[in-house]
Amino acid sequence: VHDHGTIVRCRAVKKTYGTGQSAVRALRGIDLDVQRAEMLMLVGPSGCGKTTLISVIAGVLDRDEGECQVLGSDFSTMSAADKARFRAVNVGFVFQAFNLIPTLSIAENVAVPLLINNVPRREALARARDILSQVGLGDRTNDEPRKLSGGQQQRVAISRALVHKPKIIVCDEPTSALDHATGQKVMELLRSIAQDAGLSLVVVTHDQRIFEFADRI
Ligand code: ADP
Ligand code: MG
Repeated sequence: VHDHGTIVRCRAVKKTYGTGQSAVRALRGIDLDVQRAEMLMLVGPSGCGKTTLISVIAGVLDRDEGECQVLGSDFSTMSAADKARFRAVNVGFVFQAFNLIPTLSIAENVAVPLLINNVPRREALARARDILSQVGLGDRTNDEPRKLSGGQQQRVAISRALVHKPKIIVCDEPTSALDHATGQKVMELLRSIAQDAGLSLVVVTHDQRIFEFADRI
């Protein structure tokens, strides 16, 4: 029975890259629950498997063994198309290096998850502009990403991860390319959005200065 307070449930999850002599056992039996509306931080040294774990949770990387349910669904039983659809509806991803599309405007970047969900272009852009004004970038929506500072680009990336109202957002070192003050603002934004929308955040970080934002580490 799916517990509606538990958004992610991983048991004994294993993932190995490569084979034989060069095999890297990145996940060696991870148990993890993520609760609804929780901000969970995953902290550990470089190479310990953090990106691998959130990639499995987000359904962009297949595990080898173990169980992993997200909102009661198991990616390993889905077709590639079903997985893509599930992610497009339920999951947001924020990357360390922002990963904005350089040739698209900021509004177009943020609209991408809606366009994937077949929202008409005009409505998608209107919703993108709306969320961009909520993060203080309402006057920059027609600019290309390269015209923005790092903190502004990360706010665009967060807007893109949120615009389709997912149930869970995974963030891979979202403040590591930002200065302290900007990182704090980005975390405040993430926390307020998570609280307002009741969504779960899994944040990978090395940055001790943002631990204060965690419900659990
Ligand atoms: P973290 O995010 O904690 O730094 P990763 O999940 O990126 O760790 O990596 C865990 C381990 O798996 C590391 O030893 C890394 O070198 C290895 N690894 C990650 N991705 C790959 C890959 N695509 N092919 C081979 N090894 C990989
Ligand atoms: Mg990593």
